[in-house]
Amino acid sequence: MANYTCPQCQTPIPGADFEQGLWVCEHCGYHSRLDWRQRLKITADEGSFSEFDSAMESKNPIGFPGYEDKVQEARENCGVREALISGRCLIQGYPAVICVMDSHFMMASMGSVVGEKITRAFEYGSANKLPVIIFTASGGARMQEGIFSLMQMAKTSGAVARHNRAGQLYISVMADPTTGGVTASFASLGDIIIAEPGVLIGFAGKRVIQDTIGYTLPEKFQSAEFVYDHGFADMIVHRRDLPATLARIIRLHGYKNAAEGGM
Ligand SMILES: [Zn+2]
Repeated sequence: MANYTCPQCQTPIPGADFEQGLWVCEHCGYHSRLDWRQRLKITADEGSFSEFDSAMESKNPIGFPGYEDKVQEARENCGVREALISGRCLIQGYPAVICVMDSHFMMASMGSVVGEKITRAFEYGSANKLPVIIFTASGGARMQEGIFSLMQMAKTSGAVARHNRAGQLYISVMADPTTGGVTASFASLGDIIIAEPGVLIGFAGKRVIQDTIGYTLPEKFQSAEFVYDHGFADMIVHRRDLPATLARIIRLHGYKNAAEGGM
C-alpha cells in the first residue's frame, strides 16, 4: 500500500496506518477526501448496502463538446456511473437511505442524474418512512449540462421539502469540499447539518467574493469551523464518530433499529 503525505502538515503516513485511521491525518487531523467505496465502508454496516438506480446515465442535453468522453473517463477511474451513489443500508443497525457524492468523479458536480438520484432517494425514504443521509462533496453545478444542471437545485430542494412534509428526517453531512449549487440547495437543507472538521464549505470561491465586495475575508472563511460559528452547521464531528452520531440522531427521532423491527 502506497504511503500518503498529508497535504496540510506534510507528514508522511504509511498507507496501512492511514486506512486504519479512516484516512484522517493522525498528526494534524486533516480529513482527506474519500471515494464512494471508502465512505460506504466506514458508514454502512457490512453487507447491508443495496444500491438504487445503478444503471442511470447522463445524456448530453446541451450537446457540450467532449462531455461524453469526460463522463466515460470518470466512470472508468471511479468504477461508478455517476458522481453520486444512492441506496439503502443499515447504520449501526438503523435502516436509512444513504447518498454519497464522490468528488473524484468530475468534482461530483450536480448534473441531471445526480439530481434525479437524490430526488428518488428522498421519494423512497418518504414512502418507506426512512431517514435520508447525504454525504455531500461537490464543486457545484455541472457546467456541461448548462441550465439542466441549475434546475437540479430547485428539484432537489423540492424533494427535501416533500420528505419533510412526510414527517421524515434528513441529515446532511458536509465533506470536503461542499460548494456552489450543492451548498445552495440540498446540502444546506438538512434537519441536522453535520460537517467534518476543517472541510471547505461555501458558495462562490473566496477570491471571487473578495474581488466583488472589496474586503479581505478572514483566514478561516468557508471552513467547517467558520460555518459552524456562524450557525450554518449544527455539529462538527470527527470521521471516527460519524456512524455512532448518525445512529444516535436517527434513534432520537423515533426510528427503530432492525432488531426492533425497523425496516
Ligand atoms: Zn496532517
